[in-house]
Amino acid sequence: MNVNQVHISEVGPRDGLQSIKSVMPTEKKFQWLEALFAAGLEEIEVGSFVPAHLLPQMADATEVVKYAKSLQAGTVLALVPNLKGAQAAISAGVDKLTIPVSASEAHSLANVRKTREEMIQQVAEIIQYKNTVAPHISVEVGISTAFGCTLQGTVPEAEVIAMAVSLAAVGVDEIGLSDTTGYANPAQVKRLFKQLYQELGPRAGAAHMHNTRGLGLANCLAAYEEGVRTFDASQGGIGGCPYAPGASGNVVTEDLVFMFEAMGIKTGINFEKLLEARKILQAALPQEPIYGMTPEAGIPKGFNING
Ligand code: ZN
Repeated sequence: MNVNQVHISEVGPRDGLQSIKSVMPTEKKFQWLEALFAAGLEEIEVGSFVPAHLLPQMADATEVVKYAKSLQAGTVLALVPNLKGAQAAISAGVDKLTIPVSASEAHSLANVRKTREEMIQQVAEIIQYKNTVAPHISVEVGISTAFGCTLQGTVPEAEVIAMAVSLAAVGVDEIGLSDTTGYANPAQVKRLFKQLYQELGPRAGAAHMHNTRGLGLANCLAAYEEGVRTFDASQGGIGGCPYAPGASGNVVTEDLVFMFEAMGIKTGINFEKLLEARKILQAALPQEPIYGMTPEAGIPKGFNING
């Protein structure tokens, strides 16, 4: 990949839609996904394979994966918390699996009712299964609460890096760091990604930043400066459990695209088409707040983002 190029992984259809109360109708998800791919996004996290009674927003994950694959437009990624979810996602036809693993023991127990050790074991089992039935599928882990945890507070950096090393040892292809709680700051982001690259080399993965305290873009830029070239973002900043009124949860895709393109770093995304996808999202979720400074203010005069 060119040094002046980044890869944005759209997580809105999963991270976004599963964190809000409204359930987006399947037909609207199809339209939105189609528009996002048409805007130039190369990878979309389209759903989560979890029991429908726990997350009714994700009950149509199989249909959504099948539809997204039928578009033949880019990488179709799904979140799976366990082997059963992985089996369902693989039979639906995903290209890539993402597994949530927490760096905080307290968060791991609360979120998946497993210790961190048990989660690494679970990841190993998923990879063994995947290697026998569908070896072409890649597996990524975004280590959640990597920058701090709402339950236990500080998460020691050495523990985060040790988790990453254990995950690489069981065969995870890409290991990224997620600021699940919006606690990260740019200096910390630089320190942790620097260590991640030292330990994992090319297996160091994406930065998944939140904008809870307004530092989402600053944290993405800090990660970029340490060599990160894949960034998770959510259209309209939906999801990511925003705690602060007026602040988005996930980093807003539109603002992230603007920042990189304004710096001369290519995203491959056409901004006009990205705004068309945003209109579909807004119309499908009229009662939900949709964030983004660039869509509100507009692209500066004479500025062109055409992918
Ligand atoms: Zn998120």
